[in-house]
Amino acid sequence: MRLAHYEPLSLSDFPGRLATTVFTVGCNFTCPYCHNPELVTAMEDTPQLTEDAFFAFLERRRGKLNGVCITGGEPTLHADLAGFVGRIRALGYAVKLDTNGSNPETLGHLLETGSLDYVAMDVKAPPSRYSDVTGNPYALVLAETSIRLLAQCDTVHEYRTTILPLLFSEVDVDNIARMLPPGSRYVIQNFVPTKTLDPNLLHARGFEPGDLETIADHTRLLYPLLHISTRGGI
Ligand code: SF4
Repeated sequence: MRLAHYEPLSLSDFPGRLATTVFTVGCNFTCPYCHNPELVTAMEDTPQLTEDAFFAFLERRRGKLNGVCITGGEPTLHADLAGFVGRIRALGYAVKLDTNGSNPETLGHLLETGSLDYVAMDVKAPPSRYSDVTGNPYALVLAETSIRLLAQCDTVHEYRTTILPLLFSEVDVDNIARMLPPGSRYVIQNFVPTKTLDPNLLHARGFEPGDLETIADHTRLLYPLLHISTRGGI
């Protein structure tokens, strides 16, 4: 694994858990609003967190924390992810995976083997704009496959989309929701400008809280079988 760093304690990254969040290096998407650009553009010689240092931290926190959120970047790019997950679980931690859904093969393996306790999959854009938003021409078909895998599994999961007025309209959100199986949890996340991959978006704004709720209400009307919630930022 190429690890960048970890947040020792998060009360929000892993629902219902006191978790640490570990960030992996590298991504196969180039979402312009990405708030971890240093993970996307990282070079081979970018300083890394060693697995030894991370597991030493987990050993020290056993009994105090009960979850690990693996995020990125895109964690499924790493061939040894399954082993990494297994090692974390062997210490007694539940594992949540954040993924952009671009690696259904790895995701499917982790789901089949019951290796994950929670999955949050980003659904980046409506079908007609998926390649544009992600910068990856294969992203849509891979995401659709991952959505199907999650729909068929017993692992707790959610789909989520980060939106900002410059890139997404109410209709876009409706068309994303249409991609999701009935009964799914869908989280509409507001963009919070901190760092962005596209410097032109650094001063872009998120939605006003009231506008975000209006969008969510509209989508709920169209897709009453989805469990839709909103989140303030990423
Ligand atoms: S926001 Fe997009 S570019 Fe950034 S880590 Fe996630 S999938 Fe990759």
